[in-house]
Amino acid sequence: MTNVSGLAFPGNRVAELRDFVIDDPGPTEVQIMVKASGICGSDLHTYDSRSGLRAYGPDDPRVLGEPRTGRLLIGGHEPAGIVHAVGEEVRDFAIGDRVLAYHILGCGNCLNCRRGYPVVCTSNERAAYGGERDGGHSPLLNVEQRSLIPIPDSLSFVDGAMIACGAGTAYSAIRKAGVTAGSRLLVTGLGPVGLAVAQIASDMGVEVVGSDLNPERLSGARKLGLHHGLAQSTGDAATAEIMDLTDGLGVDASIDCTGAASARALCIEAAATFGRAIFVGVGRQPLSFDPTVQVISKMLTIQGSWVSSQAEMQELTSVLAQRDLHPEALVSETFTLDEGPAAYAKFAGGATGKLVLTW
Ligand SMILES: [Zn+2]
Ligand SMILES: [Zn+2]
Repeated sequence: MTNVSGLAFPGNRVAELRDFVIDDPGPTEVQIMVKASGICGSDLHTYDSRSGLRAYGPDDPRVLGEPRTGRLLIGGHEPAGIVHAVGEEVRDFAIGDRVLAYHILGCGNCLNCRRGYPVVCTSNERAAYGGERDGGHSPLLNVEQRSLIPIPDSLSFVDGAMIACGAGTAYSAIRKAGVTAGSRLLVTGLGPVGLAVAQIASDMGVEVVGSDLNPERLSGARKLGLHHGLAQSTGDAATAEIMDLTDGLGVDASIDCTGAASARALCIEAAATFGRAIFVGVGRQPLSFDPTVQVISKMLTIQGSWVSSQAEMQELTSVLAQRDLHPEALVSETFTLDEGPAAYAKFAGGATGKLVLTW
């Protein structure tokens, strides 16, 4: 057991360092000395909530969104670091290895886990690091060995933290979009996931068109490989501009990273015949469209995408190393763990860009 100071969310928009005890790793667990831990939009839900980030209490219903009453957990679900200790049954990882963690631990046995998608594990055992178990805003983190993905030497720990969530999510969406060199791709929303889409897809030789309400984000995205930033982020003017750029054909695929109805509508509207629209951004706004005109006669495929498979995340580490591509380039600001409370205050206050804790 080791005493650490980890960043907790006790509720009501507070992030503070609290004392935690990290157990020695269990037989199949690996203890990571965390070196980088990303801050993600999805962390703000528990940061904002009244009950904060807690484990399940004995009587808590295991329902998504229901408040929990157990002990406070350490936050952060985008961890990367160095193997510090291993359980007695761990064979594939050794002290000193550089690793990131796929941030959701599945049961390993249900159909979706066997498909490589712990994010949609159907068991009650499903637990996210920084969600239902302690997360990466801590000097030490215990992770089941099956969650670990090695980080190639040429990638940084911040690269690793980016892959653990946003870049992995972007890569899976690009794969589902089925784009290849010379394809045209629309990405709506140029936050960390949209930027990673632009960076990775443009490196593949894809022509990337992007839209965002914020012109600063468009210019930042151009530095990462975006070819065209739309003058209007959504609506008829945006569709017309895309048609102009694509000889009236539309884009081969589109990826929505906003979750907003207007951007999803643009993704559908701007897609070419036999196109694909991939929805990544989470949002609850209803969307109405004409399936006969916009889906059937266009033979459009609409697909949702949540995080990535574990294999895709591992594959991405190789792709980035081979292409000398670094999602760290998307990071706008880094903070130490001690500065975590200030980082969350800044992020919750509307700071755009990607903030990462690193030490
Ligand atoms: Zn995340
Ligand atoms: Zn499962």
